[in-house]
This record gives sequence, C-alpha cells and structure tokens, in this order.
Amino acid sequence: MAEPFVTLDDIVAARVTIAPHIQRTALILSDSLSEITGHPVYLKHEHRQTTGAFKLRGATNAVARLSQEQRQHGVIAASTGNHGRALSYAAAKQGILAIICMSSLVPQNKVDEISKLGADVRIVGRSQDDAQAEVEWLVATQGLTMIPPFDHPDVIAGQGTLGLEIVEDLADVETVLVPLSGGGLIAGIATAVKALKPSAKIIGISMDRGAAMHASLAAGEPVLAEEHASLADSLGGGIGLDNRLTFAIVQALVDEVVLLTEDEIAAGIIHAYRQEREVIEGAAAVGIAALLCGKIRPTGPTAIVLSGRNIAMDQHCRLVDRAVFPELGS
Ligand SMILES: *Cc1c(COP(=O)(O)O)cnc(C)c1O
Repeated sequence: MAEPFVTLDDIVAARVTIAPHIQRTALILSDSLSEITGHPVYLKHEHRQTTGAFKLRGATNAVARLSQEQRQHGVIAASTGNHGRALSYAAAKQGILAIICMSSLVPQNKVDEISKLGADVRIVGRSQDDAQAEVEWLVATQGLTMIPPFDHPDVIAGQGTLGLEIVEDLADVETVLVPLSGGGLIAGIATAVKALKPSAKIIGISMDRGAAMHASLAAGEPVLAEEHASLADSLGGGIGLDNRLTFAIVQALVDEVVLLTEDEIAAGIIHAYRQEREVIEGAAAVGIAALLCGKIRPTGPTAIVLSGRNIAMDQHCRLVDRAVFPELGS
C-alpha cells in the first residue's frame, strides 16, 4: 500500500469524537485460557459495549462526521444485525433518520431490536447483496447517506479505537485475535496496533463456510462467497466486489486468517459461558474457539476481541444445555 487509507491519526481523532457516546471496555485476564495455552490470554469485553457489539464505535464516528445537509436527509445501511443496531442508536442519539435494510436470513430477534432502537427496518431478498442493492436505490432516489458496515474510512477509524485500548492496557501484547467478516474491525485494529507495536501479530478468524475475505485473499482480489446459515451469523456476507479499503488493508496488515467449523464455534460459546460466565454470540466466540481447538497456538501475551453478545437467547440455552445434557441431542 503506497499510502494508507486510514491512519493512526484518524483513529486517535475518532476516539475523541466517539468518547462521549461509547464505553471504553475492559481487557480481562482469562485464567482458564491462560492455563490451557500456557501464555497470558486476555479477553476484550467488547460484547459489553452499548448496543451489544463494537459496531457502535464505527457508526458513531461516521454519523458524527456527516455534514449538516447529510443529517437532514438521514442515513441508510444494509446490515446483518449489529451494524443496523449501532447505526439506529447512533442516529437516534443525534436526532437523525436511519433506514436499515437486511436480508431474510437475519434472525428475528435482531430485526425486532433494531426496530425498537428507532430505525425504519426493511427486509429485502436472501443475501446481503440484495439488501445492498435496495440501499443504493434509496440513496440515488431519496438522498440518504449510506453508512456501510465496514468499507468506509470513518467506520474503520472508529473500530480502530479498540486497537488503541488494547495496546494501552496490554503494552506487551504479542498477538491479537480478531473475528473477521468484511474486515472493518480487523482493518481498524491492525492499523492502530501495527502503528503502536509493529511486532504484534494480527490474526483474523472466520467460519469455514462462505468466508469471503479468506477466499478473496487467496484469489488476490475481491471475490463472491456463498452465504450459509451459521452460528456466527454476524460474520455472514461478502466483502463487495468493488471493495475499496478493507481488502487492501487486510492484505497489507493481517498476518494470518484461520477458519473454524460450526462445532468449534459452538465450543467457544460454551466455554465463554461456563468458564468465563459471559454470554457471547458465535461471531464473538471465534477467538476462544481457535485456541480451544488448537488452530492458533499463542507464543506470548494474547488479546482476544469478544466482539458482540447479540445471540438469540433460546439458541444460546440450547447450545449450553446440550453441552451439559448430551442426551438432549441437537
Ligand atoms: C460485524 C461483526 C464482526 C465482523 O466485523 P467486520 O468488520 O465485518 O469484519 C464480528 N463480530 C461481530 C459481533 C460483528 O457484529
């Protein structure tokens, strides 16, 4: 990359902008994972963020940077859930209209919760790409401003504030494990962490079904990936064939991408609950899961981003019960 699209300065500025609206989340030592791996493992409790996921950071930064004219027309996004929640909340807090388009694969609990936050929700098609097409049509015809979930410099800078906090709280961090879908989260974190601590490794983790960024890195350019239902539903969706930022940043700064099965992700959710006493969603469990199954072996102080907690609670209960009472089956 000749010139970085998002810089450490952008991320430092984003932190000042969003500070009044977001929580600075805790980084907490996990006794169980430290014992299992033989190295100190810390959990970034970002699932405790307002709206239940890190996406509030990027959405709040993007909304705060709109012009007066853009504010009058409102904002719009296609979202698999957590970006929609975040944008609804961020827009409502600033008195701005938000329209959220999402595919019919999104769980009903997420749809309801976004409506409750004040957004106008529209269900379109069976893929993230269908929802995105509707967004583009409304932008063209009604003058709304699209705030995409990951491929936007202000969104990436907002997510990058997590990287600042991790390095501040764990100066000798050697490896950061980050859930990876469209790559806004990992692009922001990698930009911040590599600027402050170039020796640190950044590892992205996706589910093995329809991992668009992984397939794109292998192809050397953005490619389409099939969508599948997954425990890690927040990791679904493509990276966009016209990806402008996250593909290049991930290509330049991310050291490795690891893929996990559904069973491995389930084990991560169950471990978080039984050992850490935390309720997290599938997308947020991939870091813990990758350590448990041995696909990632720490070599020093490791930070895991627990990215969200917005799992349907009946699904969570089934997973946890099945682990305790195997005779219940699936
Ligand atoms: C959006 C999301 C991710 C993935 O973030 P990207 O920026 O798309 O890579 C991970 N975990 C949760 C909980 C999310 O909502």
